[in-house]
Amino acid sequence: MALPSNLSLLLLILFSFHSQLLQVHAFTTRSDQDFSFMKSVRNAIDMASEEKYDYIVIGGGTAGCPLAATLSEKHSVLVLERGGTPGTYPNVLNVAGFFANLMQSVVFRPNLAVWQSVVKEALLEAGVGPDNGLSVILNTDIFFEMTEPSAVGVIYTDSNGKSHKALIRKRGEIILSAGAIGSPQLLLLSGVGSDTYLSSQNISVIHSQPNVGKFMADNPRNNINLVIPFPFEASSAQVVGITSDYYIEAFSLSLSFFPIPLPFSLYPSSVSTELSLASIVEKIAGPLSHGSLQLASPNDVKVAPHVGFNYFADPVDLSRCVSGVRKIGDLLNTNSMDPFKYKAFNGERGFMFLGPALPSNNSDDSAMEDYCRSTVTTFWHYHGGCLVGKVVDGDFRVMGVNSLRVVDGSTFILSPGTNPQATLMMLGRYMGLKMLRERRQPIS
Ligand SMILES: Cc1cc2nc3c(=O)[nH]c(=O)nc-3n(C[C@H](O)[C@H](O)[C@H](O)COP(=O)(O)OP(=O)(O)OC[C@H]3O[C@@H](n4cnc5c(N)ncnc54)[C@H](O)[C@@H]3O)c2cc1C
Repeated sequence: MALPSNLSLLLLILFSFHSQLLQVHAFTTRSDQDFSFMKSVRNAIDMASEEKYDYIVIGGGTAGCPLAATLSEKHSVLVLERGGTPGTYPNVLNVAGFFANLMQSVVFRPNLAVWQSVVKEALLEAGVGPDNGLSVILNTDIFFEMTEPSAVGVIYTDSNGKSHKALIRKRGEIILSAGAIGSPQLLLLSGVGSDTYLSSQNISVIHSQPNVGKFMADNPRNNINLVIPFPFEASSAQVVGITSDYYIEAFSLSLSFFPIPLPFSLYPSSVSTELSLASIVEKIAGPLSHGSLQLASPNDVKVAPHVGFNYFADPVDLSRCVSGVRKIGDLLNTNSMDPFKYKAFNGERGFMFLGPALPSNNSDDSAMEDYCRSTVTTFWHYHGGCLVGKVVDGDFRVMGVNSLRVVDGSTFILSPGTNPQATLMMLGRYMGLKMLRERRQPIS
């Protein structure tokens, strides 16, 4: 059903954000960058003041790029991205390049570095195996009201401050892929959110949706860092121990530093010294704790919103952390880890920690909980804000608003597996194919 035009127009005007654009795919915030190597990339200042597309994807990130590349096989697509150009992997913006990148950089069998092999053996000795139990993250309930408002376009601002309008054609859609922080922020700024909250911010309410910006979650990360008594190669995570409560990964790095030039230093001050470090990192599965996102500015999308994740507010998360930290203690007691100990003057052997050591008594729950709370940090796997079943339906459509979807990590109830990026790329590709199929169906 067609909407009153003032409602559509209001939504259009409120879809305002600072960005550059490109015609079919991505772009940048700086006008001095050379786009000639990417035919589809335009700086926003070179765009017409008004154009129409079949699809507008906001956010050329992990989910947005494969989604846009897939849709652009058959339709005109505009991606609005406020970050830089994907110079490292320009081919990710076409289907062949996307799969090549996937196989070369994301899904491949690695040659294990030494520290990774050690942790793999230690994990197996400590009884942690590759339990790849799948978790279902998508809710299949569908709620879709044809009588609600429709998204019709976006207004974006180029780096000179000039506004441009991009509209969608008949049967077109706008897809938010701006990530767990960007997508709820854009919905709120556009008037889709709790009516009392939006009114308190003087934002006109397009559609009252109390769950936008809610259920923001981040997997707590806790790690130990060991100083290794011999030179050691750097490695990123290649091995993971998977349990239903936590994941354990490992990293190693070599730090160069210049010794402090004390008068009696053993080292000449001009000689750098290498410090080998190895980390064992625990990521809490889930998590169950969550917080919310609030706007820091009611009208400027460039002002990052305030987000709270309430780490360990749910006691289950804390007990998972304690179990994981205990398991790290078990790893350190394995034979595989023995060569990484130092020998003290009294002949005793032990690990040298950089930063907090594990509590000496790992059966002391309260000491373990304090350790979890005091050493918690982020794995950057934050998600939520536009959850499936609460803000979007099982087809990722914003419930109550026509022609508007959210396809990114903000829809996730749980962060999938050890690292979410591959799942998000596949979500973009999957949704692109699904939308192409839907588009071929006759209008009922
Ligand atoms: C430092 C760091 C390291 C990480 N390492 C790993 C890893 O090793 N492995 C792994 O699996 N995961 C990793 N992650 C997590 C992973 O990157 C994210 O989970 C994933 O990228 C989220 O995908 P997304 O599509 O939801 O959002 P994103 O990939 O974040 O894409 C959102 C895009 O929208 C753009 N955007 C936001 N707002 C706007 C706006 N208003 N206008 C226009 N564009 C906008 C952003 O610039 C961004 O390009 C890491 C994350 C971080 C931050």
